[in-house]
Amino acid sequence: MKHLVEFVRATGVRWLWPLLAGVLAANMALAVLAFANATPVIQAVVLTIAATTVIGTALLVKLLARTALSLEEARQDDEAAYLHLREAIDEMPAAIELFDEQDRVVVYNRRMEEMYPQLEKSMVLGQTFEEQLRSTAQPGWPEGATPVEQEAWINQRLNERGATDGPQLQRLPDGDWAYLYETRTTSGWVATVRVNVTEMIRQREALDLARLQARVADIRLREATDAMPAGLEMYDTEGRLAFYNQQLLQMYPEMAQALELAVEKGHTYEDLLRFSIRTGLVPEAQGREDEYVVEVMNSLGISDEPRVVATPSGRWLHVYEKRTRSGGVVSVRLDVTASIEAGRALADANEQLARLSTTDGLTGVANRRFFDLSLSSEWQRSTRNREPLSLLMIDIDHFKLYNDRYGHLAGDECLRRVAQVLDDCIRRSGEVVARYGGEEFAVLLPGTNIEAAVMIAQRCLDGTVQASIPHADSPTSPRLTLSIGVATLVPVPGSNSTTLVEHADIALYEAKRAGRARLQRASAVA
Ligand code: GH3
Ligand code: MG
Ligand code: MG
Repeated sequence: MKHLVEFVRATGVRWLWPLLAGVLAANMALAVLAFANATPVIQAVVLTIAATTVIGTALLVKLLARTALSLEEARQDDEAAYLHLREAIDEMPAAIELFDEQDRVVVYNRRMEEMYPQLEKSMVLGQTFEEQLRSTAQPGWPEGATPVEQEAWINQRLNERGATDGPQLQRLPDGDWAYLYETRTTSGWVATVRVNVTEMIRQREALDLARLQARVADIRLREATDAMPAGLEMYDTEGRLAFYNQQLLQMYPEMAQALELAVEKGHTYEDLLRFSIRTGLVPEAQGREDEYVVEVMNSLGISDEPRVVATPSGRWLHVYEKRTRSGGVVSVRLDVTASIEAGRALADANEQLARLSTTDGLTGVANRRFFDLSLSSEWQRSTRNREPLSLLMIDIDHFKLYNDRYGHLAGDECLRRVAQVLDDCIRRSGEVVARYGGEEFAVLLPGTNIEAAVMIAQRCLDGTVQASIPHADSPTSPRLTLSIGVATLVPVPGSNSTTLVEHADIALYEAKRAGRARLQRASAVA
């Protein structure tokens, strides 16, 4: 009875009570009829049948009620399980849809509604995926697609259904991005999972943008540095080559491959330096490679002054190397060949000018200007040191006749030979042979006393004899001869160097007068 009450309460089947009452009434009517008219045997049979029917009906109803109750319990369990499942998938961070084997929507979760707010209107449970596709307010086909293209897009989408490898990226109605995973189960159902990946996509877009900006900046840097009239290398904090410009390649075409490889493989400043030494690009490092590398590495980025290096093609470079704030090294090479060559040309010109201004153009010995300067400075020095200063005044004998006989050009050549003889006679530095004027020479001998000066004068006479220069018209000798006046003074403060010249001149005059081809000591000797 208890089961019947629960069954009725649970199922709401109201007709059970009238059914039971009907069966009971029919049996009772049968029993009354039997008791009224029948024999005892028939009465007993009727009673038995009636009782059995009542009991049987009651048992049957009880059995039915129990079965129906357990079915109801199972249904309620299923419903509870379904609700739990709904709750669980509603809480999932992804949008989920499940389609049955006919591709009809069986379930979808709250996130799905959030992702596609229009679903409420356009999608109902039981709708097929194709219907869903066609009724979606914003299907995924490209903007402006023709109906044929839209149909093709839908067909393609249906063909790919549950068969794609990996996730597909989908644009959501609100502009967000989702990864769509679509999987067909073994029983033919399709499970779709959508994960919002907008943040990741934005980060990727930001990264792509940053990369693009970095590329643009890199291109600009390259263009700018390639336009610079300087070779440029940049090394990172680990000393690895990070960048070089075109100008550097033009300076070192032999290094092109090595530079390219260095950037690719991360070769360092030292690697490249050693390579360039091995290739013979650094002549000054030959035979002392290790020492040179240590020197360069130790001074790297320290000096503000440039290193001067020569390239194999004969160019001169100034190399400025600086450490950057981030700890790298920047090396700048400027081609200074033009200014170095200009500087050299200037130095050569200056040297030549200096030589010309102190040298006699005809004979190559010192000129009168240089002699005057030397006499003045040696006079002062001798005054300070209280040392003797000697002077030989030399005049070629009968040179006018020489010119008359051999011609002026031969006379010039003769002057050169005499200058050479005189130059060969002096040995100490500071001693000066000068052309004093015309065919007169002067020899200045600092720190030389009269005896030594006379010896030198004699050497000059002997040298001229040995030179054996013919002078056929000379009344003195058939060979060219000289007359020499020798004077020596230890100058005193306040005295004048012209005194020495005067003494030597007088002595020379005396030598001439005494017959030429000789030397004469000045009588006034300090
Ligand atoms: P003396 O023995 O008395 O010195 O006779 P001298 O002929 O040498 O006399 P003087 O010193 O007066 O003559 C100098 C000559 O030297 C005159 C000039 O023609 C010649 N002379 C001077 N300078 C040069 C020169 O640069 N080249 C040549 N070829 N001759 C010169
Ligand atoms: Mg003379
Ligand atoms: Mg003379």
